[in-house]
Amino acid sequence: MKTRLFFILLTTSLLSYGQLTDSTMKKEKTDRQWQNELSVEEYRVLRQCGTEPAFSGKYYKHKDKGTYHCAACGELLFSSETKFDSGSGWPSFYAPADKKNIKEVLDTRHGMTRTEIKCAHCGSHLGHVFPDGPKPSGMRFCVNSVSLEFEKDEVQPEE
Ligand SMILES: [Zn+2]
Repeated sequence: MKTRLFFILLTTSLLSYGQLTDSTMKKEKTDRQWQNELSVEEYRVLRQCGTEPAFSGKYYKHKDKGTYHCAACGELLFSSETKFDSGSGWPSFYAPADKKNIKEVLDTRHGMTRTEIKCAHCGSHLGHVFPDGPKPSGMRFCVNSVSLEFEKDEVQPEE
């Protein structure tokens, strides 16, 4: 009896493991899966192209050294090295950590022509990029805090 139970458990865990690796590799999930995994606010911003209210986000005034990752899939998006205070009310960066991790899409909603930025790996909405940033790039990646997950550097530089 016990052996049988063990085999049932083993088969079930193997099956769910298979599904997990499959969806993680593709980083493609159904709407229902995203809804289950993300908080209401994360789902609204990341999957429905929402925007958090200005000056409300947890990373707007965040100054720790480290890296910012996609809140939906964990992909590396930005480094604190390129973060600057734009006065816009949202975390702003003048360059991505790796260009290939960010996808730019033309956004003509709300009567404006803007460039939307998405996570290249899972397609989640991050924010917009504007050509009014500081040197050296002249670009301003304006990102919702909700779309980001901060990872602090192990060694913090001495003040
Ligand atoms: Zn992602």
